[in-house]
Amino acid sequence: MRGAYGGPRVLLRRLREVMAEPVAAQERLDRIVVLIAANMVAEVCSVYVLRTDGDLELYATEGLNRAAVHRTTMHKGEGLVGLVADEAEPVNLSDAQSHPAFSYKPETGEEIYHSFLGVPILRAGNTLGVLVVQNKSHRTYSDEEIEALQTTAMVIAEMIASGELAGVGEGFEPATRRPAHATGLALSEGIGLGHVVLHEPRVVVKKLIAEDSAAELHRLETALTGLRASIDVMIDEGDFARTGEHRDVLEAFRMFANDRGWGRRLQEAVLTGLTAEAAVERVQSDTRARMQRQTDPYLRERLHDLDDLANRLLRELVSPGKGMIPETTQLPENAILVARSMGPAALLDYDRTRLRGLVLEEGSASSHVVIVARALGIAAVGQIENASALVESGDAIIVDGVSGEIHVRPTGDVERAYVDKVRFRARRQEQYRALRERPSETRDGAKVSLMLNAGLLVDLPHLAETGAAGIGLFRTELQFMVAASMPRTAAQQQLYRAVLDAADDKPVTFRTLDVGGDKILPYMRAEPEENPALGWRAIRLGLDRPALLRTQIRALLHAAGGRDLKIMFPMVASVTEFDAARDIVRREHARLIRHGHPVPSSLSLGVMIEVPSLLFQLDEILERADFLSVGSNDLLQFLFAVDRGNARVAGRFDPLSPAFLRTLARVARKANEAGRPVTLCGEIGARPLEAMALVGLGYRALSMSPAAIGQVKAALLDVDAGEISAFMQPLLARRDGAGSLRAELSEFAARKNLQVEM
Ligand code: PEP
Ligand code: MG
Repeated sequence: MRGAYGGPRVLLRRLREVMAEPVAAQERLDRIVVLIAANMVAEVCSVYVLRTDGDLELYATEGLNRAAVHRTTMHKGEGLVGLVADEAEPVNLSDAQSHPAFSYKPETGEEIYHSFLGVPILRAGNTLGVLVVQNKSHRTYSDEEIEALQTTAMVIAEMIASGELAGVGEGFEPATRRPAHATGLALSEGIGLGHVVLHEPRVVVKKLIAEDSAAELHRLETALTGLRASIDVMIDEGDFARTGEHRDVLEAFRMFANDRGWGRRLQEAVLTGLTAEAAVERVQSDTRARMQRQTDPYLRERLHDLDDLANRLLRELVSPGKGMIPETTQLPENAILVARSMGPAALLDYDRTRLRGLVLEEGSASSHVVIVARALGIAAVGQIENASALVESGDAIIVDGVSGEIHVRPTGDVERAYVDKVRFRARRQEQYRALRERPSETRDGAKVSLMLNAGLLVDLPHLAETGAAGIGLFRTELQFMVAASMPRTAAQQQLYRAVLDAADDKPVTFRTLDVGGDKILPYMRAEPEENPALGWRAIRLGLDRPALLRTQIRALLHAAGGRDLKIMFPMVASVTEFDAARDIVRREHARLIRHGHPVPSSLSLGVMIEVPSLLFQLDEILERADFLSVGSNDLLQFLFAVDRGNARVAGRFDPLSPAFLRTLARVARKANEAGRPVTLCGEIGARPLEAMALVGLGYRALSMSPAAIGQVKAALLDVDAGEISAFMQPLLARRDGAGSLRAELSEFAARKNLQVEM
């Protein structure tokens, strides 16, 4: 068929002329359909545009009844045109009328056409319309013709996206400008209103049609070579933090960048007459369409990688040498970052004072970037599929880190509702701030020490902001998780010293490295484990690789010279593990003295209660440990055998169940009897109702995220510790098999007018 329609190059050249003509949009579209029909020897060529209401409207036609233009519409999914829009891929039929989806619109007069080729008009993965050619004869369109039509559709996509068609049809508004809403996973509490900043901005390709194809081919080759070289360098140097990627993603990039099939498709697209950038976009559209259809999570992931790589290739074409490195441009006020995924170091590169929110296509509660977002107090939502295709730079957006929703280009109503919500939250924060200087004690005078969970330098200002009594849990692994390579002793020491300086005379409890499980260090190769939460992690790793633990202990002892030092060990499951860890500390301490270094003025060693086996060794542990800290997140996970990171089961058992409350009560009673301080540092301490119950069980120290201090304090000030304790005793002794005591505790709180609702 090549000779018959002159090939895509000729078509593109003619299109360029039409695009340059100073005519109205409708006229231009009319000329384009005539041109395509003539070039493809088709009797019909029509353009359908997707309207705001989701219908497809006939915008121009050559061959069908012209009176049907702007009158014929179909729903997305209706007829063959609707099918193309729905599936976002070409439909090529020699006998269209026998296809089950065929639907006949009498006003168009299309009943006499048998063959049908429809391609989606795509831009950045969004369907903006459908471009169709039809013939009377039973004809199958060649691959080359499909390619040519898809390429032409790109030109029309630009016309639509540019807004040139505004006012031409009925309810027209470029698809990308419509309000959009999506629900994902709430990852970091808070609400952010602002404007989209794409972490890896897409290059907007304006020039689609090439003037000199040979030159474009050369540009493509140079960019590909540059991209391949930079990936190699990054892998060889182990420089994963720079792009925020992990090794396996970079390996996938390397594989695709060297894939002959991909290179060939790009070349072919250039040879049809596109610029190198347009060729990348053209091939990328196919990838995106495949991605949307792919249900296998692994293959989908790889297609994502390929799409990502195509973005990088575009950047390499526009600014050589920039392909692999995200641009951190100057942020506007109220910036909401949108990214497929991001490394923690990359997030810290942005100006935090301007950041209001983060939207990720991936991301889970334990991903490193999310940990940093929480520490920075930025609202974050993850698992928003296709987020970066849904938005454009500068779009208004709302991130609801409470419900896990995002609103892109929100309507006035939605925006007003959120402005109210933000105002309400700010007022409440204001009230909490007013409580900052109030001593934290219950109505009947029981002192409850409220402390912070922290782990990064960026957490430290929260100490003064919240008026917390100290740091009850300093997660030392966070420094390791956000670093590009293993932090050396000096860097560790520096951080610990900064923490102690910031805390001034307030106590800080450092927890030794809790890595492994879901806390993966990108630079440390770990054997894959079937059950990482039960695997080689935390103190197990520390005792098996004593050099790592020793280095950390040494850094802690040095940093705390002349000051009080509290260290605790995570995931201890037996008394012998605690003994072994304590020996390491003692030896390091003795070594410091031997070498004449200053030592801490006091040293307390504690144990985290998070593995149930310790519940049955409490007497022995209490004889040895200076203090206990209950890690309720893990204790709940292991006691009920529910994966804390698996949304399907994580909420299955209530921490306010008799089983868990009795467990917690027993730990508090034993510690109190032994005269050993006990703190609780899991998430449950951050919730007012749970905090009230914990006070009722005898806990007098809770450690939590900074944002929770205000709400917990506000609630506890009105609690009568004696009363709640008396109320809970018979509840815990009940034998009715209830799964939760939440209702009873809520009722008690309501009766006493306690502010326990969040
Ligand atoms: C816990 O398990 O409750 C805890 C505080 O530790 P992490 O959440 O860091 O495992
Ligand atoms: Mg834990």
